Amino acid sequence: MIQRRKTRKVTLGDEAHGIVSIGGDAPVSVQSMTAGYTYEIDACVAEINRLAAAGADIVRVAVPEKKDTAALREILPRVTVPIVADVHFHFQRALEAIDAGIHKIRLNPGNISDHAQVRDVIQACKARKIPIRIGVNEGSIVERRDKQKRMKELGGVFSDNKNGHFLAIMIAKLEEYLEIFHAEDFHDVVISAKSIDPLLVVDAYKAISERFDYPLHLGVTHAGPKETGTIRSVVPLGHLLASGIGDTVRISYANDPVYEVEDGLELMYILGLRTRIGAELIACPTCGRIQVDLFKLVQDVRKQLEKEIKLPIKVAVMGCIVNGPGEAEGADVAIFAGDRRGIIYVQGEKVANVPEEEILSRLLIECAEFEAKVNRGEARLGEKKVAILPPDPIGELGSGWEKIEKDRGVSLPVVH
Ligand code: SF4
Repeated sequence: MIQRRKTRKVTLGDEAHGIVSIGGDAPVSVQSMTAGYTYEIDACVAEINRLAAAGADIVRVAVPEKKDTAALREILPRVTVPIVADVHFHFQRALEAIDAGIHKIRLNPGNISDHAQVRDVIQACKARKIPIRIGVNEGSIVERRDKQKRMKELGGVFSDNKNGHFLAIMIAKLEEYLEIFHAEDFHDVVISAKSIDPLLVVDAYKAISERFDYPLHLGVTHAGPKETGTIRSVVPLGHLLASGIGDTVRISYANDPVYEVEDGLELMYILGLRTRIGAELIACPTCGRIQVDLFKLVQDVRKQLEKEIKLPIKVAVMGCIVNGPGEAEGADVAIFAGDRRGIIYVQGEKVANVPEEEILSRLLIECAEFEAKVNRGEARLGEKKVAILPPDPIGELGSGWEKIEKDRGVSLPVVH
């Protein structure tokens, strides 16, 4: 069990959009951001609803122009998750979004720094009980207007201790910004400090968590395409969450934001920070023993489980009986492949031995029946440990090697 850092709690949303808390005793929430234009109302609504269906607790939208904040009045009644307005450069966008009924505001100290403007936003949020995320970001943290200050800050950034300087600037900007909030006695605050550098992300959030008791929004900014961005994001975020730091998460990919939600939720599940919704699939990586098309089978099983199973049934798809039984330990439903066949077990009981083309359909039938049994109270998830003795490969599953040799037209070496 991960012991989470104690923080203040902020709450956003309403009856129509759901109420989500961040920090305190609330579970770590998963959020994402729409990629389309907010002023394209139908498309924006569709994207928000797709993210909500994927499991997003909160969705953020960009509001660079007045037409975007105007669109919020039509978008909000058509969606069912709390919405955050991402505000940069123009504090008026925050005021317009608040008027439109937005549930949370994100401000960037790097581009809205005028104290009077920030105070106006704070007062409007206070009147409506709307929280504010103060999001500092490596890309916009260095001073732009004051030339002397900029030279000094850039000097540090281009030094050997670049991360140390960025960290110092982030902390200083946060402290300075928070003073405005404290002067207004406003504490419905969430903090983020994002960077593209995973090591700086870890250092920044650790330092911030020691200084402030506000809930933290974790993220790696500009993480890149999903193919490489997953590792760039999950390494620092997983490290921080496992250390108890982090109260809401946004993984950022240059891709469909539904992936951000799916990967954010999976991160919560594997760390035990959220109760899994839907089946958990484990599968072997395959090796030179494989005698079925396991990659295809695993993808087909994954897609169908997503559609058909609601309970967190643990399903194992194993390529053979050599390591399969041990590696599938704890699975509720497991299949061990052999010579174009598969043996299916449900909580340790063998229920079928079917040819390869029937594995998928039979496995899904067994998963659905097991789920129904659990729902009727006749079985419990993970109740029986899988204690499967490997079946004789030349017996039930067949050796297969002679057939493979014939199919490929090669002679296997004779081993004496
Ligand atoms: S389960 Fe069998 S096929 Fe899969 S990786 Fe292990 S030994 Fe190889």
